[in-house]
Amino acid sequence: MRIVDVRTHVLLDPGYDIDATSSAQDTIVVEIETDNGLVGIGETDLNAWVARACIEAPGTHTMDRGLRGLLIGAEVEDAETMWQRLYVGTAMTGRRGALVNALGAIDIALWDIRGKAAGVPTWQLLGEQARTELTPYASLQPEVGSIAEYIESITAWATKARDLGFSAAKLEATFTGPYAHAGLDGPDSWIEDVVRSVRAAAGPEMTLMVDVQYAFSDVARALAVAEMLASYDVYFMETPLWVDDLAGYAELRAKSPVRIAQGEWLSTHHEFAQLVEGECVDVVQPDIGRIGGLTEALKVCQMARDRGLSVVPHAWKTGISVAVAAQLATVTPEMPFFEFLPAEFCESRLRRDLTVDELVYRDGRLGVPQLPGLGIELNREALEEFVEAARRVTPESLR
Ligand SMILES: [Mg+2]
Repeated sequence: MRIVDVRTHVLLDPGYDIDATSSAQDTIVVEIETDNGLVGIGETDLNAWVARACIEAPGTHTMDRGLRGLLIGAEVEDAETMWQRLYVGTAMTGRRGALVNALGAIDIALWDIRGKAAGVPTWQLLGEQARTELTPYASLQPEVGSIAEYIESITAWATKARDLGFSAAKLEATFTGPYAHAGLDGPDSWIEDVVRSVRAAAGPEMTLMVDVQYAFSDVARALAVAEMLASYDVYFMETPLWVDDLAGYAELRAKSPVRIAQGEWLSTHHEFAQLVEGECVDVVQPDIGRIGGLTEALKVCQMARDRGLSVVPHAWKTGISVAVAAQLATVTPEMPFFEFLPAEFCESRLRRDLTVDELVYRDGRLGVPQLPGLGIELNREALEEFVEAARRVTPESLR
């Protein structure tokens, strides 16, 4: 099987909000076509325009090629061989960050092709089946006009999640730091106000995870919040400190009564090795595209297995990312939950309309994927509409 084409699509939700902090408003979708007529689909989570450049840009230096140039005419080989060729061939620009994130979309599309070529769901090629059903967690979505509105809306979501049968949910409670919504800066006591209200609505049985989104600049403050969260039986606190403060994470993790989670922004298993070997976290959170695809994510799952850690991937994008996370969850015993909201509840039209997928939500559970490859199809009409929306914007109309 040889690769004959690599197509990239930059997509934008026509209803995008320039002030929102959601990365589900735009995406890059990659289609790889082979000479026997198979098409693999992938996506990844970074600036979609930068991702397209990483894939399509040509290069003159043998160690600084473009991804597309390395792929056209190449044989579809085993995942590790191909990943290494792409990683090494782009190393001067790549190794970490955007180019590895973009490589993730390619790697995912190639795994889709391998599954389709073998006539099996991709997970069957990734490892042993570890479960017969998947446990999704609901991401609770706040309105951010005022703290009162925030609490009311996120509590309503917790009630809805409970009524839909979810056994786990994640809420963001971020009132300081780079992710704090404009006009909604507040004291750490607001976090407790949110969690208290959500816990009361969700009931004592629901697993609750809290994302504070890099809120704290010192360990003592993060620890005080961790101690508060423990009293509400919170499963983990996500990204309390800046992503690069590994010493801070190690200190916090040693003292915290709740699990500490991090990893959504990291690329390659090498960055996760630092996190794991430094004993910085209890829960690793690869974004499967950003880390460099399923090939790299599998290595992080193995690291977690060796160290007795949990894996809860980040996946806030379209149905493609959700399908990829479901494939990984099926073969990963240490992955207790993965991020999933039924598409009809998601604000972004990219999540609602881009894909036709097979994951059927029933009473807090999903069946394991059965269709060949990743089990998704693109809705071409929606794709064209989102491509058009992205074409219409200019650098001046975005930031
Ligand atoms: Mg997060």
